[in-house]
Amino acid sequence: MVSPATTENLVVIGSGPAGYTAALYAARANLAPLLITGFQEGGIPGGQLMTTTHVENFPGFPQGILGPELMDRMKAQAVRWGARLLEADAEGLDLSRRPFTIQAQGQALQAHAVILATGARANRLHLPEEERFWSRGISACAVCDGATPQFRDEPLAVIGGGDSACEEAHALTKYGSHVHLIVRSNRFRASKAMADRVAANDHVTIHWEHEVEALQGDDWLAAIQLRHRLDGATKRLSVRGLFYAIGHTPNTGLVQGQLPLDEDGYLLPQQPGHPETVVPGVFWAGDVADRRWRQAVTAAATGCQAALAAEGWLTEENLAVPVSRKTAEPEPAPPPQPVSPATEETYSPTALWQQGSYALRRLYHDSLDPLVVVYTAPGCGPCHVLKPQLKRVVAELSGRVHAVEINIEAEPAIARQAGVSGTPTTQVFYRKELRHQWRGVKQRRMIRAELEKALSAGNQGQ
Ligand code: NDP
Repeated sequence: MVSPATTENLVVIGSGPAGYTAALYAARANLAPLLITGFQEGGIPGGQLMTTTHVENFPGFPQGILGPELMDRMKAQAVRWGARLLEADAEGLDLSRRPFTIQAQGQALQAHAVILATGARANRLHLPEEERFWSRGISACAVCDGATPQFRDEPLAVIGGGDSACEEAHALTKYGSHVHLIVRSNRFRASKAMADRVAANDHVTIHWEHEVEALQGDDWLAAIQLRHRLDGATKRLSVRGLFYAIGHTPNTGLVQGQLPLDEDGYLLPQQPGHPETVVPGVFWAGDVADRRWRQAVTAAATGCQAALAAEGWLTEENLAVPVSRKTAEPEPAPPPQPVSPATEETYSPTALWQQGSYALRRLYHDSLDPLVVVYTAPGCGPCHVLKPQLKRVVAELSGRVHAVEINIEAEPAIARQAGVSGTPTTQVFYRKELRHQWRGVKQRRMIRAELEKALSAGNQGQ
């Protein structure tokens, strides 16, 4: 997929709407762009839409669309036209010399042109004891963690006054007994439609002009202490969950000292509103340089601009090496494969990947092979990222491991029994014994290493 010996026409760094749109346009211009998806630095592949539920304002979807699904479609469209993906973080970037050098996955890649579409990442508050309660009550992703058993029918809180906070507060009323929305000022930053929806929801109480100053609890968050920002009065709220939705910081670490940034770290274009940066051959797209609009549709639009500008620049400089297509029309993108929970009739002891508690029970009791159980929630972006990695590893281990996916929203009792505190959670069992467990997304080679460890421990234990 990646050939270190050749110089890429164009490398796009980042896989949100900006990155995929840039890759789509560049691929259709026969530039065979390489897109470095990012992995752990600055968020997850797919960007912020992976942790959003319904996107109702992206044109073309009158009923709205789930954020991760929208990103899956953008990715499939870019790949269909010839974009190549490298699922890794860009760890270094040298713009001082042409061709530019990008370090990723232990390789030094060369590129004539680069589009920076690294987006922005969710902020944290850095409260005292935040680390202690992180994933034990505190979360930065309501759609990933809201459905976990610990939050069911319990009071919850969201901090922030933007669209994310309003969306999360509204969504969490589906799970919690009540939701407290803590806003530091006396007004919402959210769009009117979002703000009205949350204000009209009887299950949400808004605490204007308050900030959180302390966290309390034993092994799980039990309460937060609020302080009124004007009169200093404090109050205690019993909550089992606290969700952060306090904005984002642009992911510009790669270009620090190489390109001009504003005081908050946003990339400064060569000219406002234009896709060029001050270094010829380097372009920007999306939230990395956009502190104002920050919408999926504006990110996609700037991705298009950056790709067209890069194509023009590569042509002017006579650097582009276009690929030729075998056929004018690419193959259709494969349709998504629906998977339904296994039943007595559909369960197979040899299937590599099944769904639901029936398959889990059968494999847990009957299988002599290691069993991987992945707990997911619908709309959980990190689950979308993890599952294909996990599926590939399970397939590579060709029948020595079986996997079951449990949707914790559909089967909360199983999740409770398994002590799942958020999604994705992956557990590896060998002969009914829990051998390993992890939360969140891992790269394929790390997953493989973990499963091989379980396999070799299993062999030794035989
Ligand atoms: P925003 O930057 O819009 O809002 C951040 C909020 O967090 C503000 O209310 C801000 O308060 C508050 N805040 C910041 N720092 C702190 C702090 N230290 N303590 C307490 N509160 C704090 O971020 P969002 O993530 O909400 O939205 C980002 C972009 O994504 C926006 O353009 C939004 O429109 C878009 N979006 C769209 C959605 C949709 O359409 N479905 C869903 C989610 C996001 P203050 O106002 O006082 O600065």
